[in-house]
Amino acid sequence: METKHFFIKVSRLSEGENHAQFELNVDFFVSNGSDFISNCKLIADVKISKLEATSRILFHIHGTVGVLCDVCNRSISLPIDFKQSVLLKISDSVSRDINSEEEIIYMRKSEDNIYFDELIYDFVLISIPMKKSCDIEGVVKNCDNAILKKLEDLSHDNEDPDDRWDELKNLKINN
Ligand SMILES: [Zn+2]
Repeated sequence: METKHFFIKVSRLSEGENHAQFELNVDFFVSNGSDFISNCKLIADVKISKLEATSRILFHIHGTVGVLCDVCNRSISLPIDFKQSVLLKISDSVSRDINSEEEIIYMRKSEDNIYFDELIYDFVLISIPMKKSCDIEGVVKNCDNAILKKLEDLSHDNEDPDDRWDELKNLKINN
């Protein structure tokens, strides 16, 4: 992830709860290699409860992403509503809490910017279902019947025996 956009400055955080909001656009996904998202209206709300050495960060990503239906190939708008909490530890120690059940991001004391680009990117990608289709709850469309019919016809065409193989069998190979 080369260009980073979404960050906050730790020095600007006040004690208690802090709130930041980031608007995600399609360029964010395209520039990071996801070309299957055609448009998006996504907001990442980030709440940071500042404590001493450890802060809790709550991400709430909500809105819609435009993708193609895996079944009928029509553009659909998938609803996204994803919440995840992570811990932020500010420490120069190299020890890592590998047994922690929570996701932890680390920062050195000398750093001031916490970047969220990679986390937000990953969170959006994992909240997009493996199978993207018109009948996912919240997508108020059904698959395009005309296209489904065409796909069905095409798959039947492919079942026809391919006689090019027979022609190949008849070829004589002269060495
Ligand atoms: Zn569909």
